[in-house]
Parts: sequence; structure tokens; C-alpha cells
Amino acid sequence: MTVDPPVPDVSAPGPWTDPAGEVAAHGPEVMAWAVRYLSEVTQHPVLSQVEPGWVRAQLPEHPPAQSEGWDEILADLDRVIVPGTSHWQAPGWYGYFQANSSAPAVLAEAIIATLGTQGMLWRTGPACTEVETLVLDWLAELLDLPRSFRSDGAGGGVIQDSASSSTLVATLAARDRARRAGARLDDLVAYASADAHSSVEKGLRVAGLMGDQLHLVAVDAHRAVRSDLLIKAVQADRAAGRVPFMVVATVGTTSTHGVDPLRTMGEVAREHGAWFHVDAAHAGAAALCPEHRWIHDGLDLADSYVMDPHKWLFTAMDLSALWVADRQPLVDALSVTPEYLHNTASGSDGVIDYRDWQVPLGRRFRALKLWAVIRRFGGDGLRDAVRGHIALAQGLAGRLAADDRFEVPLPAPLNLVCFAHRAGDEVSEKLLADLNATGRVFLSHTRIEGRYLLRVAVGQTSVGPEHLDELWDLIDRLAPPA
Ligand SMILES: *Cc1c(COP(=O)(O)O)cnc(C)c1O
Repeated sequence: MTVDPPVPDVSAPGPWTDPAGEVAAHGPEVMAWAVRYLSEVTQHPVLSQVEPGWVRAQLPEHPPAQSEGWDEILADLDRVIVPGTSHWQAPGWYGYFQANSSAPAVLAEAIIATLGTQGMLWRTGPACTEVETLVLDWLAELLDLPRSFRSDGAGGGVIQDSASSSTLVATLAARDRARRAGARLDDLVAYASADAHSSVEKGLRVAGLMGDQLHLVAVDAHRAVRSDLLIKAVQADRAAGRVPFMVVATVGTTSTHGVDPLRTMGEVAREHGAWFHVDAAHAGAAALCPEHRWIHDGLDLADSYVMDPHKWLFTAMDLSALWVADRQPLVDALSVTPEYLHNTASGSDGVIDYRDWQVPLGRRFRALKLWAVIRRFGGDGLRDAVRGHIALAQGLAGRLAADDRFEVPLPAPLNLVCFAHRAGDEVSEKLLADLNATGRVFLSHTRIEGRYLLRVAVGQTSVGPEHLDELWDLIDRLAPPA
């Protein structure tokens, strides 16, 4: 038996046929919701208190057959989504590294969605492409990155969704460069700190390398790579016929903000023809301020460098900035051109097609968000904000160090402070649980040499002295004597 499908009524107006009318009618109430959320964000427990499965259980199992109203959607935001949200935009968020947003980022996201650009080729988004090139030149200037990363030479910047993707494409470029030079895939070996981010190993795995092709080099007491051990490892691998093809340095490790010695690592990479990649996903933003640019000493030796404006630079998930000193190996590794993508502009060599700088084909107009953030803050505004965060973190480190219940065992020159209770791991662990149970703050932890440390990352957009005072009061009240 065959069933005749119903004939659609193409003349019936629906929210899908009149985007302008729909936005005019409901944009104001959606924006009013955003205003209320942002002004009331401190009233919710920072970490969501729901049990696994609670969110789904609140929502209908089946999709609606009929159009629903925005009033119903907004009501569900308050009823289900907000309680089911851990509030990364609350000033009491000190966990992991922040993923801070800001008003320009919020508003720019609406514009990006309005344009709905798919900027795979210059032709499909000239503004998407050219603003991206420009805004990464701007950011390179603000961070005082080496000239080689600017787009007026052989290098340039590209926006990826995450530092993980940035490190992956750098790895693919490094791998292909080594393969083109005649190395066998199985002989390649990469080096990174024992404290390097897991994305380094994942990138190598995606690139087809096995676990034993990553050499994790031990760190010193400040959690920076020991160059002497790196040099030994490279020499031993060379002697065994392996090919060192990539050295990854970290500026601001995820665990403790360790800073690797870029210059020595870069020199080792150069000497052996290996690609030198620098991962400054979080801490790189500190280089806005001249007094913190020591973190980048030796960056002129890097083939690629990543930092995430979506962590500490007010740009909201997701926006990672990757620069390469020479774009050719990247494009060689990632460019595949079927007939349907051929066009005059791409054929002219006069334009960038960013699809050749990333794994996916399609891409959204993320650059507009960074452009809006930089324009609304201005360079001075960004510097003031980052400087303010570092000053707040330093203030907390000072209070902790001055109190004989606590120890700050590692250098904390930027905005991450790791500390322990002197009474031992169990007390430190309980202190963290008690702090988080207040709902006013959220801190995460790490373990170094088996020792449990509480971590405080200070970089939330709206965090101020009053919030650090509150955090200190909580620590002071909840911590038992040493
Ligand atoms: C957070 C972090 C990453 C991963 O960042 P994503 O953008 O989430 O992929 C990589 N490296 C370091 C040092 C980080 O702190």
C-alpha cells in the first residue's frame, strides 16, 4: 500500500519563512532573558547541583510536531537549562582555566549567526576571510609575537575551534613535512613535557603515530622541561635511527602553569630539523602586557604557536588562534581540491582559502567575534583586564603564603595559584570539597609528585577584588589549623 504525502501549504507563514519578522518579534525577549541571566548569574550555585539524567528527564522524550512559542522555550531555560548549567560566566569560577565570555562576544555571536556565513573559500566569505587575516595580525601585534607570524610574509594566522585542533593541524604539517623529506612514518618521534596537555598525544594519535612515538620529557622543580633530558632523548633516538620531527613546548601548563624553556627547545628542534610548536593556550594572553612577555622568550624559533582567546581573552567558546611562520607546509598537508571547489579567485593565488588551513571544509565567521572584542575593549582595555586578573591572583598568593596553614609550593607568576593545606592531602581535599559545597565558588585540583593541590585560576570577565575577598574569607573560615 502506498500513502500519498500531504501537500505542503507553502503560503502559510511560519517562523522559518520570515526570519526578519521573527527576530523583530522575539529578539527583544530573548535579549531580555540574556540580560537577566547575566545580572543574576551570582545567585546560582557556581557548579550545577543536578544529578546525571535530571536534565533529560525534565524534557519531552519526543520532538514537538507543532511549532512552539519562544515563551515556552524561555520558560524551559529557567526551569531546566539554568539549573543544569555550571556557570562558567560567574565571577566565582576559578576551576580549570576559565572560558570567559564578554558582552561583545555575546552580541557578535548573534551577528555571526545572522550572517550565517560558511567561509570555506575566500569567494564564499570575502569578509570572513579577510577580517580573520586582519584580526590575527592585530592579535599578533597586541601580543608582540615574532614578525614571522604576520600575514605579510610567508606566515600567518588562522582561527580553529580549539587548541586541540590547532595543535593537531600543526602536527599534520610537521608530519607531512618530515614525510616529504623522506622519513618513514614509523620512524618519526615527537617530544613534549611530561606536563604537556593531553591534546599533544591525541594530535599525534590522529596523525597516525603510536604512543611510543611521543617522548615525554621529565620536568624540573618549577615544572619546566629539563633541556638536558630533552637533548639526551633526541640524541638517543637519532642514534637508534629514529627521526625527531616535532618538539612541543608549553607556556603555562594546564596543571600548574609551568613555562618551558622555549629558546633551548627551539634550538634543539632547529638543530635536528624538527618542527617547533608552542602551546600557550591559556597563558599566552599574559603577553598583552610587556612585563609578562618573558614567557615568550625564544618564540622567534617557533614554526607554530597557539593561544586560545576563548580562555582568557573574553571571546567565549570557541575560538583558538594558531599562527605559523610558514604557511606552505600547512597548506601542503591539508589542501585537497575537488572540481566543485575550483574558482577563479582561488586559482589566482591572490587570496587565502582557510579550508586549506584546517581539517573541516566549512567554517563559521568566528573572526567577527574576536574583532568585536578587540574593538570594544581596545588594546588598553584588554591589557588592563589581564593585568587586573594577575594582580588579584598575586594578592591571593600573598595571603596564602603569609598564613602558616598553607603552602604555595610552585612559582605562580601569572593568574594561576596552586596551594596545599600543610596538614596534608586529606585536609586539602576536604577544603576543596567544602569550598565548592558553598556554591559561591568553584575550584579544581591537580596532583604534583603525588601531592594534592587546589588550583585557583583568576580570569573570569567580571571577577573583581570583592570576589577574591570573598574567596579568601571562605578559605580562611573553612580551613582547619595546620
Ligand atoms: C586548555 C588547554 C589546551 C586545550 O584547549 P582546547 O581549546 O580546549 O582544546 C591545550 N593546551 C593547554 C596548555 C591548555 O591549557
